[in-house]
Amino acid sequence: MPLQKTDAVILRSLDHSETSKILTFYTRSSGKMTVMAKGARSNRSRFGGTLEVLNHISTLIYEKEGRDIQFLSQAEIQHSFANIRADLKRTAVALALCELLNRLEVGQEANPLLFRLLLTALTGLDAGTGDEMNTFYAFELHISDLMGFRPTFQCCIDCGGSLSFPAPFELGSGGMRCRNCREDKTTSFILDSDTAHALRALQTVHMTRLGELDFKRTTRCRVGDFLHDFLRYNVEGLHDLKALTFLTQI
Ligand SMILES: [Zn+2]
Repeated sequence: MPLQKTDAVILRSLDHSETSKILTFYTRSSGKMTVMAKGARSNRSRFGGTLEVLNHISTLIYEKEGRDIQFLSQAEIQHSFANIRADLKRTAVALALCELLNRLEVGQEANPLLFRLLLTALTGLDAGTGDEMNTFYAFELHISDLMGFRPTFQCCIDCGGSLSFPAPFELGSGGMRCRNCREDKTTSFILDSDTAHALRALQTVHMTRLGELDFKRTTRCRVGDFLHDFLRYNVEGLHDLKALTFLTQI
């Protein structure tokens, strides 16, 4: 059985039998993977505390093609994001990122950009730059981009002309039309100018510079509502994220 060496972020952990764990990894070299860690729950486990959700680890995995669950051979911590874990709100946002990635049909193929996006988002949350929710919203926008449905906020999707706000954003077409090109009867979300500008900023500012963005509370709420509708329209079976529901309660 070939041993594969790769970096991974732990998205999910489930207890299995008396002693083992079944983990969902997002790996740098093979995308999303389900991995069994035998003996991980026993006190004398060789994995120690390495297998906590959120941890960035380097791993050795026995990988066999066509098998649903692979077997973990070794794991070593790269980053455990201690600052995220010390803060309830940051933890909830970080878990929401993992939950979102876990729900998406990203499959077992390498997507180094997606892996880097996840690590950059977690590193930013750990460093505590700016509002945590901006990290979540920027992550949702970048995910849309990587999955092939990048939304456009800056001009008419038909003629490239300028937009007048408020404008209906068509969830299926991924953009807005100017008054001349507009058609009725599409599923849309009405965007005001502040919200469209905030979305554009979140989409284009580098993840490490999100701390420079500051939006009004009402704008941030509209951004969240828009992305909620936009992602659920484009990704089948994506329901509400438990971690985000928790966040609204704290
Ligand atoms: Zn137009």
